[in-house]
Parts: sequence; structure tokens; C-alpha cells
Amino acid sequence: MARKIEIDVDECLACESCVQLCPEVFEMDDSEGKARVIKDVNDEEVDKVQDAIDTCPTECIAWAE
Ligand code: SF4
Repeated sequence: MARKIEIDVDECLACESCVQLCPEVFEMDDSEGKARVIKDVNDEEVDKVQDAIDTCPTECIAWAE
């Protein structure tokens, strides 16, 4: 089942780590200079997205409730 993920963009440093780890779900919003979520996370992507959560330097990525 697809899960939702959120970024607190106020805390995003635009390090691009999440985009490198899971480009299927994250991309850089060049106009904002922040990362953004482009789709819900499917079962095959959960581990990669969890890596992105664990790697984000400001801990601003989280699973949505
Ligand atoms: S890993 Fe975190 S700080 Fe880095 S671009 Fe992604 S959301 Fe922003």
C-alpha cells in the first residue's frame, strides 16, 4: 500500500541527499531551492525512503500520519 511522506521545507538545506537516495520520490524544486515529494511511496521504495529519512541532516523528512 502506498504511504505518504512529507518534507518540512523550512528545515531543508537542499543537500540533495534524499534525491540521490530515492529519485523516484524526491526531486529538487529549483525555483524554491528545496527538495519536494513528487509521489506517494510504494512498497519497493520504502527502504530507500527510510534511508533518506535517516540520512537527512536536518531530520526534516517524515512519514505522514
Ligand atoms: S535530505 Fe533533507 S535537507 Fe537534504 S535535500 Fe532532502 S529534505 Fe532537504
